[in-house]
Amino acid sequence: MSIPENLQQIQERVGKACRRVRRDPADVRLVAVSKTKPATMIEAARQAGQTLFGESYAQEFNNKFNQLSDRVEWHFIGALQSNKVKYLRGKVQLIHSVDRLSLAKEIDRQWGRIGRVADILLQLNLGDETSKAGADEKELETLLRQVAELPNLKVRGLMALPPYFEDPEQVRPYFRRLRELAAQMRNCNIPNVALQELSMGMSHDFEVAIEEGATLIRVGSAIFGERC
Ligand SMILES: *Cc1c(COP(=O)(O)O)cnc(C)c1O
Repeated sequence: MSIPENLQQIQERVGKACRRVRRDPADVRLVAVSKTKPATMIEAARQAGQTLFGESYAQEFNNKFNQLSDRVEWHFIGALQSNKVKYLRGKVQLIHSVDRLSLAKEIDRQWGRIGRVADILLQLNLGDETSKAGADEKELETLLRQVAELPNLKVRGLMALPPYFEDPEQVRPYFRRLRELAAQMRNCNIPNVALQELSMGMSHDFEVAIEEGATLIRVGSAIFGERC
């Protein structure tokens, strides 16, 4: 199928998942994950009406940004080294993958240089998978309170990349956990922290994520095809 057809089918599935749990589809934004795919494919999706794209590698993102610039909205969703933050400065609207204070401090410093505030999500490692990025949920409140002190940052929500299961139903408890953690943290009323966004769900499990409250779904291969 073509990119426009894939996008249309995904929007229909988003609509159905929303109806099942009486959510407004306008509250679920589709992040089209274009990592490893050429700018021509992003342009094809853009012409089909998709305006928000997610990238995972700073260098690759910059190449595509130079080709497409701000005709589209960019989110950064991949593992991020502090020394790469300067390449994203002012160019991405949301960084999903902040999992440690040192990284948050560098984002704060870089955005401060251009007199702007960076929107970020805190990424959690819910599966306790040592190989995966993400803060431990036991550290979440402390990390939130520390990050909240940074003047050029705003925490918008939480992100998770749970373990892969063939059956999407098995991922549901992880999505639910992320939603519960966000609710708990909202109750802490930490100044400068607004946890309205939940970034969760990928190509094979985004419907379950929507049922559990996702506001940002990150879908790559179902739009652009498998990555090599
Ligand atoms: C690649 C990637 C996705 C998209 O995965 P698909 O299975 O292709 O939809 C989502 N989130 C993150 C963090 C990714 O790195």
